[in-house]
Amino acid sequence: MAGEGSAQERLDKIAGIIATDLVAEVCSIYVLRAGEVLELFTATGLKPTAVHNTRLQMGEGLVGTIAANARPMALSDAQSHPKFAYRPETGEEIYHSLMGVPILRGGRVQGVLAVQNRTQRHYTDEEAETLETVAMVIAELIAAGELISAEELHAVEGASLLPVTVAGVRLNAGVAMGEAVLHEPRFVIEELVSDNPEEEQQRLKEAVDEMHGAIDAMLQATDVANGGEHRDILETYRMFAEDAGWLARIGEAIDSGLTAEAAVEKVHNDTRARFRNQRDPYLRERLHDLEDLANRLLQHLTGTEGDGVGAEWELPENIILVARNMGPAQLLDYDRTRLRGLVLEEGSATTHVAIVARALDIPVIGRATDLLDNVEPGDIVIVDADEAEAHIRPAEDVQQAFTETLRARAQRVAAYAELRNVPAETKDGVTVSLNLNAGLFADLQSLDETGADGIGLFRTEIPFMESSKYPDVDRQSALYERVLDLSDGKPVVFRTLDIGGDKSLPYWSSFDEENPAMGWRAIRVALDQPVLIRHQFRALIRAAGDRDLSLMFPMITEVSEFDAARALLDRELERAEKRNRPLPKQVHVGTMLEVPALAFQFDALLERVDFISVGSNDLFQFLFASDRGSPRIADRYDALSPAGLSFLGGLARRCDDAETPIGLCGEMAGRPLDAMALIGVGFRSLSMAPSSIGPVKTMIRSLNYGDISRYIQTLQSMPVHSHREKLREFAIDHGVVI
Ligand code: PEP
Ligand code: MG
Repeated sequence: MAGEGSAQERLDKIAGIIATDLVAEVCSIYVLRAGEVLELFTATGLKPTAVHNTRLQMGEGLVGTIAANARPMALSDAQSHPKFAYRPETGEEIYHSLMGVPILRGGRVQGVLAVQNRTQRHYTDEEAETLETVAMVIAELIAAGELISAEELHAVEGASLLPVTVAGVRLNAGVAMGEAVLHEPRFVIEELVSDNPEEEQQRLKEAVDEMHGAIDAMLQATDVANGGEHRDILETYRMFAEDAGWLARIGEAIDSGLTAEAAVEKVHNDTRARFRNQRDPYLRERLHDLEDLANRLLQHLTGTEGDGVGAEWELPENIILVARNMGPAQLLDYDRTRLRGLVLEEGSATTHVAIVARALDIPVIGRATDLLDNVEPGDIVIVDADEAEAHIRPAEDVQQAFTETLRARAQRVAAYAELRNVPAETKDGVTVSLNLNAGLFADLQSLDETGADGIGLFRTEIPFMESSKYPDVDRQSALYERVLDLSDGKPVVFRTLDIGGDKSLPYWSSFDEENPAMGWRAIRVALDQPVLIRHQFRALIRAAGDRDLSLMFPMITEVSEFDAARALLDRELERAEKRNRPLPKQVHVGTMLEVPALAFQFDALLERVDFISVGSNDLFQFLFASDRGSPRIADRYDALSPAGLSFLGGLARRCDDAETPIGLCGEMAGRPLDAMALIGVGFRSLSMAPSSIGPVKTMIRSLNYGDISRYIQTLQSMPVHSHREKLREFAIDHGVVI
């Protein structure tokens, strides 16, 4: 490749050498040109006039098929293959066997390298490997822009870089536009070939040793007391890292003349190409493991391991972070003022990073299939989390439309900020208490920004999830104290640990359950392992000092569970008293209402609780027997259905009669139309994500309570699927801003 002559001459020479070395009568090289056309650029053994004249579309003939699938092909009887396309100008009819490999660079096809023989030859795997190694070198020759012009090269890249929309699931609502930053950037390998394989093998060996050492250190550093997910992941890494086949293939690639880096990249390219069309989630997952590992090994080879995220790169002003998956702390390493959105190839709503991203109020899309295969660093990306779609390299007009959407949103946000100090009061004077759902210190900042009345739900499991080991009483109490300090006298309702089910902790051994949401979670765990909740009570009592303390229990199913939890709290209060510790001025103890059965012991419950908070996310999944995490049935049942509204209305009425405060802290509280219905059936307290306070307050201030309350009563007896449309019409007719 580095020889004398023009690029064309060097290409001709390469083809000649391959033909001789592999004892093939033909060696042809096709280069992908603008418009997704494969052009024959050189051909030892074919008619010279065919060169630059024979052209194939992607998917056409055997060569086009190799390019389209990005996979090698070796056929002893090529002419009998259904994809064989006869091109008389080449004179190839006399050749029977064919072996071809894609020319790949950065996982993209740039052309095809093929050899042919007259006889029905069986090509060996080693011969295919040799061809692939040469293909990698040719890819660099093409990329250098000497064979086809730099502009055309760009156009070719453009051809395979058309706008793409990848769909996923919404993990946090919102819209953002910016430049893609790959959380784990691909490496650019500068030196491809080496004439000192021994030295390269030695470099590889050292890097592999270093990598093993680093993985072992991580394993040791992981708190192993209870096993845990993190450790499993690292164990899998180590297993792959020691995979003899993988390392042997890298070693072979070095022997064929590549540098250690190029060899790692080559083996990885092959794997990627082979997995490209793999839909099996397990196998795709394994590919990701290998991808991580190849990256790690490259980091050790290039001495860039342990570099801080983006520390020395030029990061764009508007970052759309793209990753397979990442930890919450890694997200917080990025400059928050530039972070606009996050797209993950994996991830679910309860993934830790999604929870942190929600606190940062950036739109997040998860489970965006094929994301990493489609996005390049620096690509413009629109994250439309509302529609659960990411538009990669969107066309100019699409960008413009989104710029407009963003501008309109920004105006709305500014208008909401002005509402900060005005009351959430309907036109006929009914006041609604608006509170925040929180789980991080970052959320507490929003208390002041939004003018919310307090924290209606502090999910204490989030700090537990973020920590790598069980936070002891001291750590918990410092954390709760800080929460109370930052809330500056506004009430905070702490919810005791809601772990188990799908919310796993790294240091907590979880076990498989068929229906984890209905399994061993929340108060069920706490009552079986009382030390856990007693520590939490102790920490909360200590943190409160002589201030008020409000707490509630998740997933209470029957009154006896409330009594048992309350008894444990009383024991901790007595303990503090005996030790002459300050006691909270007042202790308010409530319960979440998330399990329908509890509503059938309502009178007994009302005698015991200071307040009730409806967790509609869980409540509705149990009421409708409809998994809250399943996208397939996400829209099947509606909270604003006759059953949903009459259930909620009944609760509100009974609490009103008993003068027990009731609020709702599920996701529906933050949606203006749903909030309007909740107010209509009698709710006076709602708790929601910070970004929902403005829109819900705006709705309330444009609503007349008397009207909605009367209207909703007329709806209740109708046996329809949902009242949503009727309520929307009501809002439009009555000028309610939803
Ligand atoms: C709920 O179930 O509505 C709720 C607020 O709790 P979580 O979403 O944390 O389960
Ligand atoms: Mg819940």
